[in-house]
Amino acid sequence: MNANEILEIENKHTSGTYAKQSLVIVRGQGASLFDADGKEYLDCSSGHGVANLGHAHPKVAEALYKQANTLITLFESFPNDQRATLMKKITALVPGLERVFLCNSGTESVEAAFKFSRISTGRKNIVAAMRAFHGRTYGSLSATYNKKYREGFEPLVPGFSHVAYNNIEALEKAVNEETAAVILEVVQGEGGVYPANVAYVQAARRICDERGALLIVDEIQTGFGRTGKFFAIEHFGITPDLLCCAKSLAGGVPMGAVLIGKNVKNLTPGVHGSTFGGNPLSCAAANAALDVIQEEDLAGQAEAKGKYLMEKLKAIQSPNIREVRGLGLMVGIEMKQKVVPYIKALQEANIIALNAGMTVIRLLPPLVITYEQLDHLVDALTEILSTDFVTE
Ligand SMILES: *Cc1c(COP(=O)(O)O)cnc(C)c1O
Repeated sequence: MNANEILEIENKHTSGTYAKQSLVIVRGQGASLFDADGKEYLDCSSGHGVANLGHAHPKVAEALYKQANTLITLFESFPNDQRATLMKKITALVPGLERVFLCNSGTESVEAAFKFSRISTGRKNIVAAMRAFHGRTYGSLSATYNKKYREGFEPLVPGFSHVAYNNIEALEKAVNEETAAVILEVVQGEGGVYPANVAYVQAARRICDERGALLIVDEIQTGFGRTGKFFAIEHFGITPDLLCCAKSLAGGVPMGAVLIGKNVKNLTPGVHGSTFGGNPLSCAAANAALDVIQEEDLAGQAEAKGKYLMEKLKAIQSPNIREVRGLGLMVGIEMKQKVVPYIKALQEANIIALNAGMTVIRLLPPLVITYEQLDHLVDALTEILSTDFVTE
């Protein structure tokens, strides 16, 4: 199949729910993606933060091959060596979170956290933040703020409310004896790359403790080294009651997880479950991925490279830039105008970047991106960000 045929088939048979690019990608390695003609692109999206280890990491590929020849599927009621290894490894990452529920995606991990919060507290209400993104199934969609994701799908799940982010007073007012949980991203991703203040996250922990509510942190985008720590909560000095993760957990293979603290009660057989959750194939991939993150110190790399990139970006002189912000290799460039033309121009320069809302360019490169590749990115951005697309 050549590129045109691939494009034609996808455009004909797509559900229609994706804004399809005309770029056909067939292969990846490290921070590079390749089209059907072998042309190389610098991936600054990582599939929205999935490919932290880079594409086609050989250790993940090997683990998948071996496990595919051993045992692919096994319901979680039967213990398994790969799953036990993963449970031990992942719960060792956050002291205090000793249990884990395994699932298959980000939104599923958020759904699980909401169900656990309600069954644990006997309360109904969930407080989320304005600009929050937690996923697209009904519970997580109800916690997602932007009406572009919500409109047309009502009625959503009752009991959800949204308060201003980074605003302690608003949280104080919103959380009460009927609140089951507060859910926060400690760096908002889709919402525009907004890191939380340390005082805010610590206040959220205190407010939840005082009122008997659980604190859920959504680390689906910030996890696994992305922000310069293994989990972003390490920047804030708190431990949530429920920590949701997915995206980069299994080195690119679909998997989600909720880490669970001791305040979460009533998790008994039948309360929740998932056919594919904790399958040995995904667990083997996750075991390999977690090893790679540690062996290659991807968190340390994200910290150093993020600092390097941020400094260079802040030095770009362009009247079109409003602000550069982020944490580690989760970087947002807020422009004074709509960013779609900039993303397109970057793609024409063989760089794949994301937007976050209308005015923010979001950079989420694989953490293995090289300094040469970062320099190339900065050079391209220096030129493109100085272009004034609006008046053209
Ligand atoms: C991507 C994302 C989700 C949803 O994950 P899916 O795997 O697409 O369901 C939820 N929360 C955050 C913060 C995300 O970045």
